[in-house]
Amino acid sequence: MGRILACACEDVDLAEIRRAVEDGHRDLESVKRATGLGTGPCQGKSCLALAARELQRLGVDPGALSPFTARPPREPVPLGALAALDPELLPRGDRAAPPEILPPRPAPETLPSLPARAEVVIVGAGIFGLALAWELARRGTTDVLVLDQGYLAYGASGRNGGGVRAQWSTPAFVALARRSLELCRGFAAEMGVNVWFRPGGYLFLAPDREQVARLERNAALHARLGLRTRLLDPAGALRVAPRLDPSSFLAAAYNPDDGVVFPWPFLQGYAGRAGALGVRLRTFTRVTGFEVSGGRIARVLTDRGAVRCELVVNAAGAWSKEVAALAGVAVPNRPVRHEILATESLAPWLDPLVSLLGSGLYLSQTQRGELVGGLGDPAEPEGLAMGSSLRFLARFARAALRIVPGLAAVKVVRQWAGCYDVTPDNGPILGPAGPANFHQLHGFVGHGFMMAPAVAELYADWLCGRGRHELLARFAPDRFARGAAVPEDFVIG
Ligand SMILES: Cc1cc2nc3c(=O)[nH]c(=O)nc-3n(C[C@H](O)[C@H](O)[C@H](O)COP(=O)(O)OP(=O)(O)OC[C@H]3O[C@@H](n4cnc5c(N)ncnc54)[C@H](O)[C@@H]3O)c2cc1C
Repeated sequence: MGRILACACEDVDLAEIRRAVEDGHRDLESVKRATGLGTGPCQGKSCLALAARELQRLGVDPGALSPFTARPPREPVPLGALAALDPELLPRGDRAAPPEILPPRPAPETLPSLPARAEVVIVGAGIFGLALAWELARRGTTDVLVLDQGYLAYGASGRNGGGVRAQWSTPAFVALARRSLELCRGFAAEMGVNVWFRPGGYLFLAPDREQVARLERNAALHARLGLRTRLLDPAGALRVAPRLDPSSFLAAAYNPDDGVVFPWPFLQGYAGRAGALGVRLRTFTRVTGFEVSGGRIARVLTDRGAVRCELVVNAAGAWSKEVAALAGVAVPNRPVRHEILATESLAPWLDPLVSLLGSGLYLSQTQRGELVGGLGDPAEPEGLAMGSSLRFLARFARAALRIVPGLAAVKVVRQWAGCYDVTPDNGPILGPAGPANFHQLHGFVGHGFMMAPAVAELYADWLCGRGRHELLARFAPDRFARGAAVPEDFVIG
């Protein structure tokens, strides 16, 4: 039989959908992430019916076949039109957008069963949970169960900008990010999955003297640590990113070795390789409590049953505070929504990821030409809301046109959001807290994706008895109580 096209935008055929289902993806959002189906400009309008029918034919629970999560704007809107809106007149916080809801869970009998016991239970199948599972398994600890309340890539790890930079301002973060970059470069060869690693560099723009001084301090540190960061004047920056408005910044810093990856295949790569070594991943399985006995977690309670365990790792990202509380542990994390968007495809012109310091703006161009960019909002309240707002579009458009005025006619085609997992010093929370066998692996604000590959290596070494690396010790959960918060590094957005 000939090839039957299901998604014309992304060139996905029925055979690819069948393969995704054979690989264990049993709901529409997972099949979307495994194949690319429904991620093009029509946002699934043309492929939804055919894909749903095929999934049902293959035995997927019809109750789990809700339409793709709607992503505004309803139709493409030029950045220039959005910049004309006054963000301060637009609703903010929870009033700005309806919360995103988790799609229905497939019927339990269609999901793989939950084991009664596992040596290590990891709560959260984001980049940290999966990278740790892989690193444990390759060290010989394969009796690992990873649980997630949603589909694979439901959390921030499936929603982020994929930026990976070594340009940090403390030696600790430079060391971790540098090792992650090395792992990103080798990921495709080692894991057999193309993560579209694009080493176009990061270009930081400093709009005032204070930010110039920050770049100068960073560049001096980077030179000491052997990074190739270069300070550039506006003319030099234009040679790296030609359409920038040189009057919008005083100086720039550029490291050609930084880059961007595509997050979905990264997660799938870790999940697939860990699974091949025996790690069990159970999506649509929500952890609802812990049974603590003799100062240790004896069983992890879920909405699909209980699992006996030796060790539990809380890798629940922005939900980590909630999950810690289930064991009576208080952590200082705060979930804060962060929004992001993609434009229509343009001819390639932007190699590096560009960020305007102080504004929270960042912008990069994917291999297929879309601009992907985000912007933090200081007015964003704490909360797990993941809806999308018009206020963000207006703020983003104004900030982006400030550095690249020529983008006014470029249309935004899709926006979405995830939650940052914010801590008081912007440093992660790493180590046991509360019950002796309850580890915390979270608190990576807006830079967890790029830190995870390196952190997971160190963490797996520790859990496998190879000693606790000094970089982990400095981010111990009790540092706030001891008055030993780490020096703050700089986060974008
Ligand atoms: C819009 C956006 C852009 C970003 N851009 C970048 C970037 O360019 N570079 C970068 O390095 N970082 C970026 N980040 C940050 C990065 O995405 C995160 O730091 C990282 O993904 C966190 O990974 P995680 O595994 O800790 O959390 P998550 O990926 O959120 O995973 C946690 C998982 O835990 C699950 N969970 C929660 N509660 C339960 C429960 N009770 N039971 C079972 N499962 C549960 C959730 O469903 C979720 O899947 C960005 C974040 C956002 C939101």
